[in-house]
Amino acid sequence: MEEKIGKVLLSCEEIQRRVVELGEEITRDYKGENLLVLAILKGAVPFMADLIREIKIPLKYDFMAVSSYGASTHSSGVVRILKDLERSVEDHHILIVEDIIDTGLTLKYLKENLAARNPLSIKVVTLLDKPERRKAEVVPDYNGFTIPDEFVVGYGLDFDEQYRNLPYVGVLKPEAYSSEG
Ligand code: 5GP
Ligand code: MG
Ligand code: MG
Repeated sequence: MEEKIGKVLLSCEEIQRRVVELGEEITRDYKGENLLVLAILKGAVPFMADLIREIKIPLKYDFMAVSSYGASTHSSGVVRILKDLERSVEDHHILIVEDIIDTGLTLKYLKENLAARNPLSIKVVTLLDKPERRKAEVVPDYNGFTIPDEFVVGYGLDFDEQYRNLPYVGVLKPEAYSSEG
């Protein structure tokens, strides 16, 4: 698997250091509040698992799974909910956890959908932000790293469902995209 990685963009140590900082910031901001951490499957799972252990206040967590309609490589902005929340979110502050914000279309849809359920507030924490490709105006409230317009894998991010278990974020060698796999 690792022989397919052309370049490490963010090392495991860099990510872990930043996750601690984000956890401290979130702990301060939500002290005394009813916090629901909402991870978007599947990419946000490793980030969420590390982040919640750096948030030192009581919280609940839940998951949503969404998929965009249409061509697989281009976000259409039309999103289908594959798995929804288990409970009502009234009386909760929602913190959406994302792996990466690219066009922003998925997040825009999610925020609108969640706002209709009347939570106390909605904020977003993303591991990665690729602002160059934005189509919808969404800005993360907490951002791990801003990255250039490159397709990255690892720490939850996949290519064809693979590479999610890498402990760092990297860029694939061109040959990894070929059909020999
Ligand atoms: P968008 O912000 O364009 O609506 O969609 C974000 C989703 O597209 C992410 O949650 C992720 O699944 C996928 N995505 C966007 N950029 C990348 C990337 O560089 N690498 C990987 N593996 N997935 C990406
Ligand atoms: Mg995602
Ligand atoms: Mg994917």
